[in-house]
Amino acid sequence: MGFLEYAPAPESRAVLRLRDEYGLFIDGEFRPGSGESFTTISPADESHIATIASASAADVDVAVAAARRAFEKTWSRMSGRDRGKYLFRIARLVQERARELAVAESLDNGKPIKESRDVDVPLVAAWFFYYAGWADKLDYAGLGAAPRPLGVAGQVIPWNFPLLMLAWKIAPALAAGNTVVIKPAETTPLSALIFAEILQQADLPPGVVNIVTGAGSTGAAIVRHPDVDKVAFTGSTAVGREIAKAVAGTEKKLTLELGGKAANIVFDDAPIDQAVEGIVNGIFFNQGHVCCAGSRLLVQESIHDEVVDRLKQRLSTLRLGDPLDKNTDIGAINSREQLDRIRELSRIGEEEGAERWSADCVIPDNGFWFAPTIFTNVQASHRIARDEIFGPVLSVLTFRTPGEAIEKANNTPYGLSAGIWSDKGSRILAVADRLRAGVVWANTFNRFDPSSPFGGYKESGYGREGGRHGLAAYLKSASAGESARRVEAGRAKKGILS
Ligand code: NAD
Repeated sequence: MGFLEYAPAPESRAVLRLRDEYGLFIDGEFRPGSGESFTTISPADESHIATIASASAADVDVAVAAARRAFEKTWSRMSGRDRGKYLFRIARLVQERARELAVAESLDNGKPIKESRDVDVPLVAAWFFYYAGWADKLDYAGLGAAPRPLGVAGQVIPWNFPLLMLAWKIAPALAAGNTVVIKPAETTPLSALIFAEILQQADLPPGVVNIVTGAGSTGAAIVRHPDVDKVAFTGSTAVGREIAKAVAGTEKKLTLELGGKAANIVFDDAPIDQAVEGIVNGIFFNQGHVCCAGSRLLVQESIHDEVVDRLKQRLSTLRLGDPLDKNTDIGAINSREQLDRIRELSRIGEEEGAERWSADCVIPDNGFWFAPTIFTNVQASHRIARDEIFGPVLSVLTFRTPGEAIEKANNTPYGLSAGIWSDKGSRILAVADRLRAGVVWANTFNRFDPSSPFGGYKESGYGREGGRHGLAAYLKSASAGESARRVEAGRAKKGILS
């Protein structure tokens, strides 16, 4: 071992109490699925983790029926205060089992343990704490007096932040009084199934949350189910489009959180070292498997060479390898399919004339890996400047004026997020105002907070998750008569005569 190299520091897997097989979590208990079971593997070495049940349309039917019963008999009748108590309890149990959840997430997804431990799992707890606080204050959410839950929410989530996306979906739905049928992605079901155990520990009434594992067809069965009142989807724009079609013409409410191709704009007055860290965090966090990743770097021409040089130096210090090692910066790509897609788009980038540079890291023999990569000389027309690569690949473009930066940043079918790096507050505000993106970060990137709404423009989807806005997706306003009755009842209780 050379001077200043790191010794391996793997997090222990002993904290996991994995079962060999996991069933579907329906009506408060695990039960077998009638579809064909599948295996979930570790993307870091392709080893088997557990056998997972697959839900057929008939199983989805049973899950939706359980959710409907729970909605009518318990959850929608419970006071907001009591619902809040359950959510607080779930949040505390997530904290208690944080290490186990982080290890499971890194094992199943391939993300570095320092991210699952310091970002994903703490945010999951934060989301439940935040929405627990809303459960008894829905009258003050800006949706009129006494807003009502929608009913049964059908939710489908992706593999990049498995437990965090589950929290984004479940916490506001439950706070608002809805019940849930949720499907995790087929490559990352593990943390959702441990979460099901947490729901049992929390004594959540049966049927309030049902977790059904399976592939796209299970997701389609949820989305199309006639007794689902609300569909919430996070995933690719292609599947989002199919879902929008399936839901069109029904009474179902729909929110879609889809792909992105965010511009990270660096002006020549930006603090360069800070910006370089922000660019690295923007695109190499979670191997770039981030819908709002800063995958298009727009750098002012005068500082292009300096920024690119410093970026290459910084990337050469990143450690790629075992996701469970606490020193690891870049973990495994989540699946062979995703690795193939990253490789294919990178090949096209070279073919179209962009210049490729990849960090010189040792790639492990087994598993799915891709070295952090930068493309320079990228034109706006190149596929790598337009398509979401969803991997550790940065495309660098240049601009001369703020106007050109804005035009290039908005030149995309997506509109989920953007970043601005500048020393001037007035410039940041002026540019942010003209960016067509749901979230704009200034002198930072990839920051998430449960109180802040998140969502897209254009092909990045519609609806907002997070904050007060996130409740709107799970509530309907009370009718005028009902509101008036509630106000009257409240006054009578307080002894106020009208
Ligand atoms: P995906 O669309 O392939 O799959 C997402 C989920 O949908 C999975 O659970 C999958 O099984 C399910 N699914 C597949 N076909 C379906 C169908 N016909 N009907 C219903 N469900 C179906 O996406 P992915 O590859 O898992 O995730 C990556 C994508 O997710 C990227 O495009 C990324 O940008 C996006 N994403 C967006 C956000 C956001 O908040 N905007 C967050 C994370 C990921």
